[in-house]
Amino acid sequence: MAATAATTCRLDNYLVLPDSTMDERIAAARAELGEDCILLGHHYQRDEVIKFADFRGDSYRLCQAAATAKGRYIVFCGVTFMAEAADILCRPGQKTILPDLNAGCSMADMADIGQVEDAWQSFVDMGLTSELGNRIMPITYMNSSAAIKAFCGERGGFVCTSTNASAAFDYAFGQGVEKIFFLPDQHLGRNTAWAKGIPLNEMVVWDPYMLNGGLTAEQLKKARLILWKGHCSVHQRFLPEHVDKVRAKYAGIQVLCHPECRWEVCRKADDLGSTDKIIKTVAEAPRGAKFAIGTEIHLVNRLAKDNPDKVVVTLDDSGCLCTTMFRITPQHLCWALENLADGQVVNRVMVDERVKYWARIALDRMLEIH
Ligand code: SF4
Repeated sequence: MAATAATTCRLDNYLVLPDSTMDERIAAARAELGEDCILLGHHYQRDEVIKFADFRGDSYRLCQAAATAKGRYIVFCGVTFMAEAADILCRPGQKTILPDLNAGCSMADMADIGQVEDAWQSFVDMGLTSELGNRIMPITYMNSSAAIKAFCGERGGFVCTSTNASAAFDYAFGQGVEKIFFLPDQHLGRNTAWAKGIPLNEMVVWDPYMLNGGLTAEQLKKARLILWKGHCSVHQRFLPEHVDKVRAKYAGIQVLCHPECRWEVCRKADDLGSTDKIIKTVAEAPRGAKFAIGTEIHLVNRLAKDNPDKVVVTLDDSGCLCTTMFRITPQHLCWALENLADGQVVNRVMVDERVKYWARIALDRMLEIH
């Protein structure tokens, strides 16, 4: 039910609407918008919202979809950094909408641009690199703010995902740099480097709340990898004892973890992979296969539902929920779509033009690395 006049409908009026009315209204607004709007849904999104997505995927695939979207509006049912990436990659004239601007990412929030610039200046002052990164290459995980992506782009670095992190490390060292400065997820950085044979004693963790990152000049000089002290509050909850417990409960179960999990958990897992790889592995497994999955609970529950001939359980019984992505409710989606149908753009995510320029360079470099 769209408003009749082109005035912005208040979100407050939507948050009290009963769930039972949402499906019909969202479907009607989608139909009214037609091809002018693409609705993107991240794998961790709740079922009541993702069922309306034209395209589902991880942050990388969703950004690819945003980059090729035809209509004027990209409604992103994910979190802020994903919507920012869509705004960076989309065509002029397109607008990216995040139905709830409070849907942030705890990991992305752990790397503040001011803190990162201070850390870099320390490296420059110690003679470890030039301002523009001749000896250290900054690489940021997709799960970071646009400002951090731009920081990397401006210094010869780029963005990576959990799918191409390994290739990104090869590329960086292939360029002759001595070190990688990896932001903001220490676990993905550590797991990727370990898999390439880099020992733990050649990795250091930069703590932005400590003087000189809590590191000595000697430690920094010796390190091949400087990891930012950030993590995903969802994946860090999985512990090594969860692996032992699930194996004791289900004979022959395979443990599949996202590389945002702790190194100690990943060492015990049978395999690691991005959300896309996890989905593919479970889908292609023979009937009767058993999996314990170390990733966000909505995806695990959906995998269990979509693969009734297999056993699919969460690695941790208490269930790990991305509480920030969960903020987007059907009411938020309905509000955003009905306003769009009335010609009102609400919750538009816009990246500053200068940030956009360098972040785009960092993202484009990523697309060249496989
Ligand atoms: S699961 Fe973790 S990394 Fe992914 S959006 Fe949620 S908080 Fe961020």
